[in-house]
Amino acid sequence: MRPDSLNPLFAAAKTLKGVGPKLAPTLDRLIGRDARVLDLALHLPTGVIDRRARPRVVEAARDQVVTLEVRVVNHQPPAQSRSGKAPFRVLVEDDTGTVTLIFFHNSAAWIGKMLPVGATRWVSGRLELWDGHLQMVHPDRVMTAEDLATMPAVEPIYPLTEGLFPRVLGRIVADALVRVPVLPEWQDDNRRILRGWPEFHAALATLHRPAKPADVEPTSPAHQRLAYDELLASQLALASVRGRLRAGDGRRTLGTGAIADRLEAALSFRLTDGQAQALAEIRADLAAPERMLRLLQGDVGSGKTVVALLAMVTAVEAGRQAALMVPTEILARQHHERLSALGATVGLVVELVTGRDRPKEREAKLAALASGAIHIVVGTHALFTDPIAFRDLGLVVVDEQHRFGVNQRLLLAEKGTAADMLVMTATPIPRTLVMTVFGDMDVSILREKPAGRQPITTVLIGAERLDQVVAGLARAIRDGARIYWVCPLVSESEHSDLVAAEDRYAALREAFGDAVRLVHGQMKAVEKDVAMADFAAGRAQVLVATTVIEVGVDVPEASVIVIEHAERFGLAQLHQLRGRVGRGAAKSSCVLVYRGPLGETGEARLRVMRDTEDGFVIAEKDLELRGEGELIGTRQSGLPTYRVARLDQHGALLAEAREEAAGIFADDPQLASDRGVRLRTLLYLFERDAAVRLLAAG
Ligand code: ADP
Ligand code: MG
Repeated sequence: MRPDSLNPLFAAAKTLKGVGPKLAPTLDRLIGRDARVLDLALHLPTGVIDRRARPRVVEAARDQVVTLEVRVVNHQPPAQSRSGKAPFRVLVEDDTGTVTLIFFHNSAAWIGKMLPVGATRWVSGRLELWDGHLQMVHPDRVMTAEDLATMPAVEPIYPLTEGLFPRVLGRIVADALVRVPVLPEWQDDNRRILRGWPEFHAALATLHRPAKPADVEPTSPAHQRLAYDELLASQLALASVRGRLRAGDGRRTLGTGAIADRLEAALSFRLTDGQAQALAEIRADLAAPERMLRLLQGDVGSGKTVVALLAMVTAVEAGRQAALMVPTEILARQHHERLSALGATVGLVVELVTGRDRPKEREAKLAALASGAIHIVVGTHALFTDPIAFRDLGLVVVDEQHRFGVNQRLLLAEKGTAADMLVMTATPIPRTLVMTVFGDMDVSILREKPAGRQPITTVLIGAERLDQVVAGLARAIRDGARIYWVCPLVSESEHSDLVAAEDRYAALREAFGDAVRLVHGQMKAVEKDVAMADFAAGRAQVLVATTVIEVGVDVPEASVIVIEHAERFGLAQLHQLRGRVGRGAAKSSCVLVYRGPLGETGEARLRVMRDTEDGFVIAEKDLELRGEGELIGTRQSGLPTYRVARLDQHGALLAEAREEAAGIFADDPQLASDRGVRLRTLLYLFERDAAVRLLAAG
C-alpha cells in the first residue's frame, strides 16, 4: 500500500491552483497521461533564461537577455495609413543611451498603463541591434521596481505543449512544488553528503527555482540526486524481479555430453572461442543449484543460435525439455527447420508450436510435450500464453528478447516454472542500457564473428539515383546474387507501408519478372512461408520486404541488401537489417538509399553506418548523436524510459545504483529494515509498485 505521505503527490493535477477544466486536458497532453501533482513536480526545466544581467544601456550586450532600468520617453503608435502590421514603438532611455521597445499586437491601452510617458520601469528581454539602433521586441517583462523584486532572476524553461504559456506552467509547477511533502531520507547519508546532494525536497526546489543556470544542468547536485533516486528505484525493481525469478527452486541440470558432442561434431564449422566460452558459462549455470538467469548478447551473425541449441541439448541430456521462444512466426519456422535438421542426426525431436496449428495438430503436440516425447519445442509467445504442460521443462531460451518487452519477461517469470532462463539479444545495446533493461542479469557476450566473414561494403545513395541502384541490381541478378530490398515504415499506418512495399514489388517485378517475391507482416502466414522458402532455396533472387526481416532471418547466400529511406530508420535497426547479409562466403554489400535533405545529424548517422560494422560502436554513436530519449526503437523495444534520469548524462550513476541495489537486496531482501521501509516510499514515488508486490509475494 502506498504510504499516506505520498497522497498529495498522487492527487490529480486539477487540484492545483489555477488548473480548471480548460487547462487540465492541456496538462494531460503535456505529461502524456492523466496528469497528477507528482508529474508536474517532476516536470523539470531543460534550461533557464538568465535575467541577472542589469547593465546600463551603453554597456548592454547585444543578442542577450538583459534587464534594464529605463525612463519612458515617448509613444510612437503605428501610423493610421499603414497596414495593421506596423508595430507600436515605445522609446525608452537611461543616462547612457536609448532603446526602442517594439510591440506588434499590444493595445495602446495596455502600453499606456504599463509604460506611461515619464515613468521609470524595468524591462527584461533580448536586446538586438537593428538598423544601427538598439531595440527590444516584445519585452518578456515590463515591471515596476516592486515587480522586479519578485521576478526570478534565473527563470526555468520548461518543455511546453500547444496552448500552454510558460508563465502559466511556471505558476502551476510552483504550486505543485508546495504540495511536495518533506519525506524521510531514503538515500544513504554518506553517499549523499559526500556528493553534496540535497535532500529530495530541496533538490526539487533548486531545480524549479534555480539561483544560477548551472543549477538545472544534468551535472548539478540537485539533478544528480533526483536521477539517482529514479535509477535506484528502477534497479531495486529489477533486483526484486530477479529475486523472484531466483526464488523458484533451482535445480541442477547436468548434461552428459552424449548428444552435444556428437552434434558439435556434426556441425559444418567449429565453435568460436567466444561461443565455446559462452556455452561453458551457461552449462556452469545449468549445473548449479540456483536458477539461471543469463543474457547472451552478440551482434547480428555472431552465432547465438548454435550456442542456444547446445545449451538446450544439455537440458535434454539431463532428461528434461527445452523451449525456444522467438518473436515472429517466420523466425520460429526458420529455427525449427534448422534445429530439426541438425537434431535429426542425433535423434533429437524438435517440434514447432504456433498459433497456426490446427486444433488436432495442436492437441497431438501438447500431448507429446506432456509425455516428454518432444525434446525441444520452438514457438512464438503463443508458447506461454496458453497453459502448456511439459513433462519436465528444464530450460527456456528467449530469442531477440527486446522485442518482447519487459512486462512479458515478468509474465514469464510469474508462470513460475523452475526452468532456467537464457535470454538472447542481438540488439547492440550500450552497456548503460543493458543494465536498465536486464538489471543484474549475468551476461555472456559473443564479441567476435565466426571466422571467414567478409566485410560488408556500405554505400549511401540519394533517392534521385534510384535508377542506378536498379541497374546495379540487374547485374547482381545476372551474377546469381540474392538480394533483400527493404521498404521502410512510411508512417504510423501499416496500410501505407504496405502500399509502398507493394508498389516497389510491382516495379521490380516489371523489371526482373519472376525472380522477385514480396513478404510483409499482413500477408497470410502460408504465403509468407512460401516467399521466404523460395528466397532461401534460390528459386527467387529478390525479396522485397517490410521490416519483418529485421530480426534473425538467416539466408547465408543473400549478399545484397537495399534499404529505402534509410534516413527514417534508427541506427540499431539499420544495423540489424544489414546483418541479414555478410553471413556466407560471398562478398556482401548494403545500399542505403536516402531522401535528402538530411540535416547534420542525419548525415552523421548514415556516415556512421558506412564507416563501421561494429554494432556496439554504432549503438554508442547513436546514443551520442541522438540522446538516449531519441534512440529509435527504444519505445518498440520495451526499454524503460525515465522521467528524470538521462542515460547519456547519468550513465555512471546507473552503474552505481545497480551496485547499490544489489547490496541492499543482499542485506535486506524484503526491504523491512528502517531504510528498507524508506526505500519502499521511493519505489512508490517512482511508481515501481509492482516490485513492492513482488516483495510481498517473495
Ligand atoms: P545470430 O547471432 O545473429 O542469431 P546466427 O546464430 O543466426 O547468428 O548465426 C549466423 C550464421 O553463422 C548462421 O548461418 C550460422 O550457421 C553461422 N555460424 C554460427 N557459428 C559459426 C561458427 N563458429 N563458424 C562459422 N559459422 C557459424
Ligand atoms: Mg539469431
